[in-house]
Amino acid sequence: MPNRRALVAGLAFGLAMAAAPLGAFAQEKLPVVASFSILGDFARQIGGDRISVTTLVGPDGDAHVYSPTPADAKAMAAAKLVLVNGLHFEGWLPRLVKSSGTKATMATATKGITALEADDDHDDKGKGGHTHAHGHDDPHAWQSVANAKIYVANIRDALSATDPAGKASYEANAAAYLAELDKLEGEVKAAVARIPAQRRKAITTHDAFGYFVKAYGIDFVAPQGVSTEAEASARDVARIIRQVKAQKIPAVFLENVTNPRLVEQIARESGAKVGGRLYSDALSAETGPAGTYIRMMKHNISEIEKALTAGPA
Ligand SMILES: [Zn+2]
Repeated sequence: MPNRRALVAGLAFGLAMAAAPLGAFAQEKLPVVASFSILGDFARQIGGDRISVTTLVGPDGDAHVYSPTPADAKAMAAAKLVLVNGLHFEGWLPRLVKSSGTKATMATATKGITALEADDDHDDKGKGGHTHAHGHDDPHAWQSVANAKIYVANIRDALSATDPAGKASYEANAAAYLAELDKLEGEVKAAVARIPAQRRKAITTHDAFGYFVKAYGIDFVAPQGVSTEAEASARDVARIIRQVKAQKIPAVFLENVTNPRLVEQIARESGAKVGGRLYSDALSAETGPAGTYIRMMKHNISEIEKALTAGPA
């Protein structure tokens, strides 16, 4: 037979639970939507326990070509803050904003970053100068750690503006994380310095490393442009194969968000080796090698250093 005192105590506790407002027991978290996994990680680093983050384009997902789901629309409608990359990365977003009816504050993480112009003249050379002069921005700004620090500052400020009570917490988290990014940047530069200068060149599927090239001085060439939307032409692929041979480019890299077929063909026909898989536009699953931005950058530079340092000169 159950203890009578325990029963009474249990009943009293149950009544207290029912009478108390929800907030007295669990602080409600700020609902935040991040358009893709890298922004989701930044938001979690800065928001900590105060926020709950929903990431739309998840691990290994390609945000250039994404079809939002009904669950995405629901998350958008419930959000108080939506974090986007901008620079035309999320072409599907404006429609989702509209269809979800969200009243959330929209914050663009690349605000204040000097955008690189996309080198989108891939198949236009030799066509009578008929180039697309659209002034297309390259959206992959997170590939430079200096830019990632601007993302973090923008996200910190957006969180503080949306949830002023959390300002001190967001600022403390951001300061600690920015210090980690400084350390990361030093590690990336040190790794690049260990690669012989004439070997600092590589191939990827799509043009996701423009900011990395500019910041760290490793030359990446890609058959596909800054978006994965357009297919690479046979002519682009042939041009890259010639380039790999002529410039003795040591390695080609697979990407987590693109089909490996193209790069494997280039490796086969040029004799370059496949140097591993880089995380360009998305993190891996949490248990994978690139579950956070910092782990992603460390994984990428380690793969790059390994592939470009080893082998015949
Ligand atoms: Zn991309």
